Amino acid sequence: MSEKCVLCGAMSEVKYEYGFVMTQCPDCGRWIMHQVKFDRLSIEQKNKIKSYIFYHKKEKGDYFIGTENEFKDYQACIVPICDTQFLSLNIVNAWYPKTFADKIDLILLKLAEFSNFQGDYVTISNELLFADSKSSETISENYSSYIAAKFIIDYLEKENLIKVVDAEDIQLLPKAWSRIYELQKSHMDNKNVFVAMKFGKETEALRDKIKEGLAGYNVRIMDEIEHNHQIIPEMLYEIKNSKFVIAELSHHNNGAYYEAGYALGLGKEVIHICSESELKSGLHFDVAQVNTIVYSNISEIPEKLKRRIQATIENK
Ligand SMILES: [Zn+2]
Repeated sequence: MSEKCVLCGAMSEVKYEYGFVMTQCPDCGRWIMHQVKFDRLSIEQKNKIKSYIFYHKKEKGDYFIGTENEFKDYQACIVPICDTQFLSLNIVNAWYPKTFADKIDLILLKLAEFSNFQGDYVTISNELLFADSKSSETISENYSSYIAAKFIIDYLEKENLIKVVDAEDIQLLPKAWSRIYELQKSHMDNKNVFVAMKFGKETEALRDKIKEGLAGYNVRIMDEIEHNHQIIPEMLYEIKNSKFVIAELSHHNNGAYYEAGYALGLGKEVIHICSESELKSGLHFDVAQVNTIVYSNISEIPEKLKRRIQATIENK
């Protein structure tokens, strides 16, 4: 059935099966959602999902948007035609830029990614500019998106970050390339690694082995960080400022799942560590899909961790 993609409005092939809605959109790609959730999507959520998909666009593969239980139901009744990536609304919300300055930084990095060379013309879109509409009425929706996009473009132009070439294309100016260089460099130079794990005596030896594997990095573990603030905002700040995250999952530490999810939502690499015995007893399902360092003895951790960091973080 031909219908508009509810995220972006492009004409799409939409299928309703087993209580799920599957949209094959030319812009968003293929994405799936439980019908009940689909019917209740707020405009704000649609905007955020649309931007998230745009900024994380993969070559192939579907997105399943919803809760883990809904994803399990989906996998139980529909044979996927390609890789399906699970995406929770928490991940989308954690990733979505909180401030105007954060939006500008993300936009500049994306424009740099789209530029084949300095001076290249780059096509802009509402998704790229976080030009979200607040209305469901088509005409005013277009109009408010237009105003929101123009607001960002005017700012970038006034700050000498871009030159507007025509209605759809812009060029990044030298000032923007300096800013992009700073942003990329601060990411490269960042040596902070956030470790999510259970605290206390029983995990002390394990903690030492993880630190050994992280030699050369600035290891950030919540109970070792001096802070005067509440623990949660401080923790989110630490994750946001880390280069990557280690999540140790052997001790049924729900916090580690939460922290890993938050880091993933921010686009950070997460390395999971888990004991063999715990893995056999059945890990939390969406973690079981990702690459996990498995150990039978904690003495194996430093070497395995170093190798994994080389492969997934340093050689990227
Ligand atoms: Zn779409």
